Amino acid sequence: MSEELNPFKIAQKQFDEAAEMLGLDNAMRELLRWPRREYKFTIPVRMDDGSTKVFHGYRVQYNDARGPNKGGLRWHPEETIDTVRALAAWMTWKTAVVDIPLGGGKGGVTCDPKKLSDGEKERLARGWVRMIARELGEHRDVPAPDVYTTPQIMAWMMDEFEAIVGRSHPAVITGKPLPLGGSQGRNDATARGGVYTVREACKVLNVDPHGTYAVQGFGNAGQYAALLHNEVLGGGRLVAVSDTSGGIHVQDGMDPQDIVDHKLKTGKVTGFPGSKSISNEELLELDVNVLYPSALENVIHSRNADNIKARICCELANGPTTPEADDILYRNGVHVIPDFLANAGGVTVSYFEQVQGTYNYYWTLEKIHRDLDDKMTAAYHSVLEMQRDMKVQPRMAAYLVSVARVAEAVKLRGWV
Ligand code: GLU
Repeated sequence: MSEELNPFKIAQKQFDEAAEMLGLDNAMRELLRWPRREYKFTIPVRMDDGSTKVFHGYRVQYNDARGPNKGGLRWHPEETIDTVRALAAWMTWKTAVVDIPLGGGKGGVTCDPKKLSDGEKERLARGWVRMIARELGEHRDVPAPDVYTTPQIMAWMMDEFEAIVGRSHPAVITGKPLPLGGSQGRNDATARGGVYTVREACKVLNVDPHGTYAVQGFGNAGQYAALLHNEVLGGGRLVAVSDTSGGIHVQDGMDPQDIVDHKLKTGKVTGFPGSKSISNEELLELDVNVLYPSALENVIHSRNADNIKARICCELANGPTTPEADDILYRNGVHVIPDFLANAGGVTVSYFEQVQGTYNYYWTLEKIHRDLDDKMTAAYHSVLEMQRDMKVQPRMAAYLVSVARVAEAVKLRGWV
C-alpha cells in the first residue's frame, strides 16, 4: 500500500493511536476525530482587470472545549478542505500542549497570492471576513496569519469585521501590525518558541548548541529560526537554507542576516554569493546538529527518513513528517520536536495578543519573551516526561498530553 499523504487522514490516524493508548471511550473518540463545525464558501473578487474571479474559502472549527477556536489562515494554491481540517486538528492539540485556554481552528483560501495585486488581496481578505463574520469574535473564533498571509491582511480583516459589527474589536484577530493592536514579539514568535525547545533539547541530549544547523523553507518561520538560533543559543553554524527556488549550502557557515537581505533584494535564497546550490531534498539529508523543516507537509517520508542525519529535528512547519517516517526517525535516534509543540510559539503570542487586545493594555517585549519561554519550556518538558513514562516517540507523547487535556475538558462539559 502506498504511503498515506492526505494530511487529515494522517491527523486522524495519529489521534486514533493516542485515543487507543489513553483508553478513550467510543463517543469521545468519534467527537475528537472530526471537526465540530466546518464552513466552505465562495468569495467573488473584482480583479484589477475588471473581471470577477470566484475563490473558494474555508473555516474549520475543530474543537472549542478548552476555549474559543483559534488558528491561522493559509492562502495557498493547494489548499483543500482536508488540509484545513488537519491543520485545525493540530491547532486543537497545539493550544492544549502549551496549556492556553483556547480551542483549535483553521481557515484558508485556495489561491496563489504571488499572482494577486495588493488591491486584489485586500478585496479577497474583506470578502473572506464577510462570509464568516457571524462566526468570528474573541469568544468564538479568532483567526491569525499562516502560510502566505501577513499582518497587513490581518489589518484589512479586522477593519472589515469592525465595520460589520460597528465597534472596535481588536481581539477578533491576531498577528496584526503593532499600530493596530498587534503584540510585541508576534512576528518572530513561531521560530523563537521553536528555538527555545531546541535549547532545552540540546541540554537534555547533550548536543552542542553551537554546532551546525540547516533551515528548510525560508518564509516567516524559517527566516527567524535562522536568525534566532544564533541569538538564543549564543552561537551556531548555519550551513544550508532553502526555499521554493532551491537550496544553498556553505559548509563553513553563513551569516543568517546576509541571506535574509539577499532574499529581500532578489526574492529568493538561491544565487547567494559563495554558496553551492543543493536541492531541498539534499538539504534535509545533511549531517547537522539541528534541522528546521519550516515549509509545508510531508517533506520527510518513508523514502528519505532513513537518510536524515540531524540529531534534533525541530518541526516549525505543520505536518512535515509522515507517520511512517516518524517511526523510522525514532528507530534511528533522531530527536523530533513535533510540529504542534515546536511551532506553538506563534499561537502562544497570539493568545497574549488577544489578552492584551481585550484589556486594551499592552505588554513589553521583555515580558512577552519571558512568558513565551515559560510556556514553551514547560510544554517541552511535559512532552519529554510523557515520552519517557510511556516509552513512545515524541509526537505520540505530545498527542497523549494534548488529547488527555482536551478530553478532560469535553468530559467536564458533559458533552460525552
Ligand atoms: N498559524 C499559526 C499556527 O499554525 C499561528 C496560529 C495563531 O496564531 O492563531 O500555529
